[in-house]
Amino acid sequence: MPNIIDVTDLRKNYGNFEAVKGISFCVKRGSVFAFLGANGAGKSTTIEILSTLLKKSAGHVVINGYELGKGKHNDAIRRSIGIVFQESILDDPLTVKENIMLRGRLYRLSKDTLEDNYAFVKKYLQLDDIEQKRYRSLSGGQRRRTDIARALIHRPQLLFLDEPTTGLDPETRQFVWETLNVMQRDTNMTIFFSTHYMEEAEQADYIVMIKGGEIALEGTPNALRTQFAKDRLEIVFHDEKIGEALLQQLHVSYRQKQEVFILPLASTKEAIELLETMKEDIASFEVVKGTMDDVFIAVQKNELDVLHQKSDKSVSVYE
Ligand code: ADP
Repeated sequence: MPNIIDVTDLRKNYGNFEAVKGISFCVKRGSVFAFLGANGAGKSTTIEILSTLLKKSAGHVVINGYELGKGKHNDAIRRSIGIVFQESILDDPLTVKENIMLRGRLYRLSKDTLEDNYAFVKKYLQLDDIEQKRYRSLSGGQRRRTDIARALIHRPQLLFLDEPTTGLDPETRQFVWETLNVMQRDTNMTIFFSTHYMEEAEQADYIVMIKGGEIALEGTPNALRTQFAKDRLEIVFHDEKIGEALLQQLHVSYRQKQEVFILPLASTKEAIELLETMKEDIASFEVVKGTMDDVFIAVQKNELDVLHQKSDKSVSVYE
């Protein structure tokens, strides 16, 4: 069973408003999957449906071999998954350990299994120093560690994280990702996350970007970057008019942003020759590598065609 999630033509209506408009995608077992989109794109709605918290309006979803919405399959799905929500949902007056164990008991695990699982999450999330602290007294980063431990106490095969690092300081964000990556490598758990941070999305094995409830783009980070985020050379000339004439003479395509001339590059190496040819007239320059931010912004602005690429409504890019 290579896919742990198979989604076909999933739809969700809130009254007359269609928030998710027939999306289809799959997630490979043991992979790290990033689900991206601007605010209101339909990420949380989709995650809530996949994690059985919200009913779909239409479509077919299979998770870990179980059919969402069919008989007792939802119970089996719930046992297969863990969820880390955007907001913390634990009990303030209880300690970290009490909160996690309480959650574990809901899964009716034997006492021994529960203790083993607690030892497992305590090790990975480094809970030694905080396990006896009350949840309300924790810092933002400590709360997030506890939230993740709670989601993992039944050792799920699939972990959903809805913007798990929003609002965290950079050090905590790094800790969260290092922990998840190590755990994922050790246990082959599948990670499905949404994020606003493109540098986090770059770490995923596969990315799906949604816009207005539809899939706008999907592929591996490398393929998306290579195809849609071109490297570029940014030049400021001593004299704008001369620079412009020079570029036209060389038949180089460019666009201009105030005094900066932006030249798309097939590779960063291409900049060497251009700079050599124009060096007398250049006041300053920068060679900029394309990033996932460029891809995301291009999708939001419907600018994929500007980047000289296909502008189909939905584009898949495989390596
Ligand atoms: P995202 O997580 O990508 O920010 P959401 O899934 O939260 O997006 O929302 C998708 C769209 O559905 C938005 O336009 C939002 O306003 C709308 N929406 C979300 N929840 C509800 C709801 N309970 N009732 C009506 N509209 C909703």
